[in-house]
Amino acid sequence: MASLKSLKTDFDLISRITLEFNQKPSVKSFILENPHRVVLDFSGVQGVGQKQIPVKKYKIREVRLAQFKPEILRLVIEGEEKLYYEVKNSGSTVILEVWARLLDGKSIVLDAGHGGKDPGAVGAFGIKEKDVTLKLVLSGKVLVEKLGGRVVLTRDRDIFVPLPQRVKFANNSGANAFISVHLNAATDPTARGIETYFKAGREDSESLAAKLQKQLIDEFGFKDRGLKTAAFYVIKNVRLPAVLAEIGFVTNPEEIKIVNSSDGLARFARALAKALL
Ligand SMILES: [Zn+2]
Repeated sequence: MASLKSLKTDFDLISRITLEFNQKPSVKSFILENPHRVVLDFSGVQGVGQKQIPVKKYKIREVRLAQFKPEILRLVIEGEEKLYYEVKNSGSTVILEVWARLLDGKSIVLDAGHGGKDPGAVGAFGIKEKDVTLKLVLSGKVLVEKLGGRVVLTRDRDIFVPLPQRVKFANNSGANAFISVHLNAATDPTARGIETYFKAGREDSESLAAKLQKQLIDEFGFKDRGLKTAAFYVIKNVRLPAVLAEIGFVTNPEEIKIVNSSDGLARFARALAKALL
């Protein structure tokens, strides 16, 4: 007989429930309806008291753990709407990822700054802005789409796309918003922080810029350089709510190390998705 050692929960866009057993359990997962529930049955596990965790966040109503039968421990995640899930089982640890399509109906254009013959700024460790902006948008696309949103990219590889072409593409995209992704640069390697631009007088762009800036600061914990106005070509000519975000300084070794890491790309994706909620 296996026994449960611990249960940890982390509720977010993609929530994680981690169960630690004293030995590898056998797991069966399925969906029950009315109300919608994700159910995990662990067989050959006993001796657990009942547990009820109210959540009411990210469309998850409640998590329950109970002895369903003498030898079956049952974990139930009750949703306020349809939930999607993935079970990651490695040895004695089982991780359940569960999420709702929180961005259903949202549609955005993500614009990776620079590309091809235009490297953008070249920063610490020889890192090119164009390579990082591409990684950021690709990471953002995966998460937004997982959450039910639609993402179109002005470029999905290392190619040069002229600015008028990016604008035309965005204006014909049928999307709800345009987000251009860049990194800042300065001769002073200690210059740091995140800032987001919009075109002066565009209230729809300003409110998107404010949401994105707040989420970026929350995720990265970098210095908040605030919202700024500018007449950069793309945000001036795109008719959708349009912003341009500078995700830290490519010339700051500490910042670029974080932004360019897999953790940094995940932080950007979460900030982007939360700005669209
Ligand atoms: Zn740039």
